[in-house]
Amino acid sequence: MTAIVPSTRTALLESLVERFPDVPPEAVLKEDLLRTGIAFDESALSDNLDGEVKPKSYFIFSFDQKPLTELGEAALRRPPEEVALTGGPYALRRTIVSVRVNPASPYRIARGGDGALGLSLEGRTLAEVALPPMPEYYRHPLASGKTVMETAPTIQWGYLVYLTVLRLCQYFGAKEECGFCDINHNWRQHKRAGRPYTGVKPVTDVLEALALIDRYDTERVSKAYTLTGGSVTSTVDGLAEADFYGRYARAIEERFPGRWIGKVVAQALPKADVQRFRDYGIVIYHPNYEVWDRRLFSVISPGKERYVGREEWHRRILDAAEVFGPRYVIPNFVAGVEMARPHGFATIGEAIASTTEGLDWFMSRGITPRFTTWCPEPTTPLGRANPDGAPLEYHIRLLHAYRDALGRHGLKPPPGYGVAGAGNAVFSVSSFMDTLDPDEVTVEEAVPA
Ligand code: SF4
Repeated sequence: MTAIVPSTRTALLESLVERFPDVPPEAVLKEDLLRTGIAFDESALSDNLDGEVKPKSYFIFSFDQKPLTELGEAALRRPPEEVALTGGPYALRRTIVSVRVNPASPYRIARGGDGALGLSLEGRTLAEVALPPMPEYYRHPLASGKTVMETAPTIQWGYLVYLTVLRLCQYFGAKEECGFCDINHNWRQHKRAGRPYTGVKPVTDVLEALALIDRYDTERVSKAYTLTGGSVTSTVDGLAEADFYGRYARAIEERFPGRWIGKVVAQALPKADVQRFRDYGIVIYHPNYEVWDRRLFSVISPGKERYVGREEWHRRILDAAEVFGPRYVIPNFVAGVEMARPHGFATIGEAIASTTEGLDWFMSRGITPRFTTWCPEPTTPLGRANPDGAPLEYHIRLLHAYRDALGRHGLKPPPGYGVAGAGNAVFSVSSFMDTLDPDEVTVEEAVPA
């Protein structure tokens, strides 16, 4: 039997809110915004670093559904980094959503006659919108004139300092780059637009930017940092991957011991390398596996298959769990790519069954994966072939499956993401934290003895 897909986006949204009453409406709307993007009226853009609104930093990927050259005014006056939604017909509790710009989206943010910002869908207002305030530390440049926004941006409403210290990936071209990833394209488009976009960030810049954050974040909103960037298959600055990322970890933890929860996103590295991250003071390790299914892994992440291989990748995740403790190894997968044409699953049921198998595999070993909602960026092979991303129903059933799996294995929300639950969650690129029961994982608890 063919599923009946409602004819308007409003009808689709409403039908899923109704069909999945135990998934909060906040999460349903957030998933649709993340997979579709938002059109921004000029009245909802920032004044870059000169105004009162925190601008979108382009912290790693573009996370836009059009190239920079097609964003119009939003390419000149950046959109906000995130938006906070409240109220409306669903009486939304505060919901933080990462901004993905799509001028063709049916979702639009604009200022109404009363001057207040609202989110509308097909002409109907869905939520009041608050924009993130400019943090004081963004107003203070480094001695070199570089900005904190480019060097050490914060996301998740200020919770996470995002340190993409290598803006390029050495998996290169169609036979190596992950099919959903625009890191290399994003670097090129920012360079072409003449924006500051440092390929390899000097350690001294990172420390200087962190010192500014530490100094001006007087309320200590920032609680974690992520060290990340592309994969290193040869060397950068003469260093292999673990040495390259490790030098930042060591320098940060020597200068600011325990100030933030330190996280590293890197390839699944051999155990001795991972041990060094731990010895430097890193608390959480993200060896992202992207997609569970064996066939899809080799097609969607051909570089990972070629340089490490799926079995070895998974084995190294288990090794890492011995180093960090299973709770502190949090591999990411990109929710939605397993349904991407031409290689993906044909039905939502098959896709969910596959990912659930992966969740059970990890969670039965105490490891809690997490996900990022796929943004079909137009310069990637999968984005080009699937401009609408994965079906919204897939995303909602995945949230359901994830919560069920956590319960089945007696696990709590992963550490390093703030407080779970609708109205509390700050994790902005997926609504998995909005969907879980409130459960605060404090910094103290997040740092193992
Ligand atoms: S490993 Fe894949 S997802 Fe990560 S930066 Fe490289 S191409 Fe992108």
